[in-house]
Amino acid sequence: MARDAGYDDFLDALADGTGYYLACENDHGSLPPRRVCPRCGGDLREEPLPETGDVASYTEVHVATPSFVDDAPYVTAVVDFGPVNLTGILRGVDADDVETGMTVTVGVDGGASAEGEAGGDGGETGDAETERSVVFEPR
Ligand SMILES: [Zn+2]
Repeated sequence: MARDAGYDDFLDALADGTGYYLACENDHGSLPPRRVCPRCGGDLREEPLPETGDVASYTEVHVATPSFVDDAPYVTAVVDFGPVNLTGILRGVDADDVETGMTVTVGVDGGASAEGEAGGDGGETGDAETERSVVFEPR
């Protein structure tokens, strides 16, 4: 039996540079992780996520939420990794310069206290309740 393929495990792996997606025996890719293939109900295995993907679509977001106040406006993008698409926040590029088809790498931002670089938010007590996000950056 495979271990429970939770979203946290998925983010952990992404943050470690070992991102994956799920594929069934019919090679239907899927994300986020779930127990069975959403298309055929088959069992899933983990496959390595390609290091880069192409922006399939994007949306400029003008309303800042507290977590992203430094980044507003920011861009959310759907990135095509071949077998799967992944949605996240696009960093490191002006919203005006984002183009569909641009190549991006994927990582994880937020909830980084374990890595020791989460400075200064304050008030973060207790366990990993900080919300983490999938982030993309231009290659
Ligand atoms: Zn399937």
